Amino acid sequence: NSILSSVLPAPKDPVLSVIFACRDDPSPVKLNLSAGTYRTEEGKPLVLDVVRRAEQQLANDLSRDKEYLPLNGLPEFNKLSTKLILGDDSPAVKENRVVTIQCLSGTGSLRVGAEFLATHNKERVIFVPDPTWGNHPRIFALAGLSVEYFRYYDPKSRGLDFKGMLEDLGAAPPGAIVVLQACGHNPTGVDPTFEQWEQIRRLVRSKSLLPFFDSAYQGFASGSLDSDAQAVRMFVADGGECLIAQSYAKNMGLYGERIGALTIVCTSEDVAKKVEDQVLLVVRPMYLTPPIHGASIVATILKNSDMYNDWTIELKGMAERIISMRQQLYEAIQARGTPGDWSHIIKHIGMFTFTGLSEEQVHLIAKEYHIYMTYDGRISMASLSSKTVPQLADAIHAVVT
Ligand code: PMP
Repeated sequence: NSILSSVLPAPKDPVLSVIFACRDDPSPVKLNLSAGTYRTEEGKPLVLDVVRRAEQQLANDLSRDKEYLPLNGLPEFNKLSTKLILGDDSPAVKENRVVTIQCLSGTGSLRVGAEFLATHNKERVIFVPDPTWGNHPRIFALAGLSVEYFRYYDPKSRGLDFKGMLEDLGAAPPGAIVVLQACGHNPTGVDPTFEQWEQIRRLVRSKSLLPFFDSAYQGFASGSLDSDAQAVRMFVADGGECLIAQSYAKNMGLYGERIGALTIVCTSEDVAKKVEDQVLLVVRPMYLTPPIHGASIVATILKNSDMYNDWTIELKGMAERIISMRQQLYEAIQARGTPGDWSHIIKHIGMFTFTGLSEEQVHLIAKEYHIYMTYDGRISMASLSSKTVPQLADAIHAVVT
């Protein structure tokens, strides 16, 4: 007599099914471009040298214990994370109207922020870019928000549908939440320019929308931590409210440590205090308190100027390798005389590029060339190397001509 036997099979996740198809492919030249994790030129996962050093330092410190962290996480980590995203001398921080809470990487920060908003935001509607990271709609819907889309990607130009974006945000009801990816938009690789960000900011403020930034790639997109935070800082500089979900998965390579932060910029210290208390009411019944290890690694690196400096160098190295993969792929496609304009590959930024290949072409490339990408034609530039660029360029050339 089983109660659980009536459980229905779960729908297949499109990204996971690509990963499984690649895993089951016996070809020695198979190439997985579907996953969003950084790989070295040799195709290996990377643990940053500075992370190894921080871990050694932590292991040698016998005064450390394994007590619970406070509900809001490691205080030092929170303070340093706020500074990282908002900058060294943010007036919002000086005025004590910023709340930062350690969460389980970017996903956990988005989920905690969304649950808080579902209780305290009257509108309960959240606008996300079309398309956006596949997990966004699920995170927000399960938190109790109703998910709507605003136009973002223009398949014709393989760039931003700026006019459509402004029209859709302009028609959103006051109080609605707007998800904005801070840099390195997943899955398209398309970011607004700073001039466009300024126009978005003015519209968001004039329509009384609440921006919720997803900052999963700070420093990883351009190679500069400040430049990748600039869009967020433009919104904070105007004195208005916003939420920010920060992740250290990509920029410190701490994927499995699940370390990130939710920052909420309020209009006064009094509001910030109430907001913090309410967010902690979300956290407590969900997982009580966050884990220590990742937060300790991040805090160790951010508070030590030598380690911080070494981190920025390693981070820039990852970003530059990705940017050079863009250039190499573009040149390899050009060299083959492949029809069409492929300049979007070098215009896009961050880990991903929307190639513009159709689902049919994606399947063909997997079958004939053993190269796996998501069905929407997204590739992770971080999984390419100088060795595999020609393989991909050959495959693209073959399916396009
Ligand atoms: N937001 C975006 C846009 C992402 O691409 C990702 C990772 N794929 C995340 C958030 C969350 O990642 P994590 O939970 O590992 O920090």
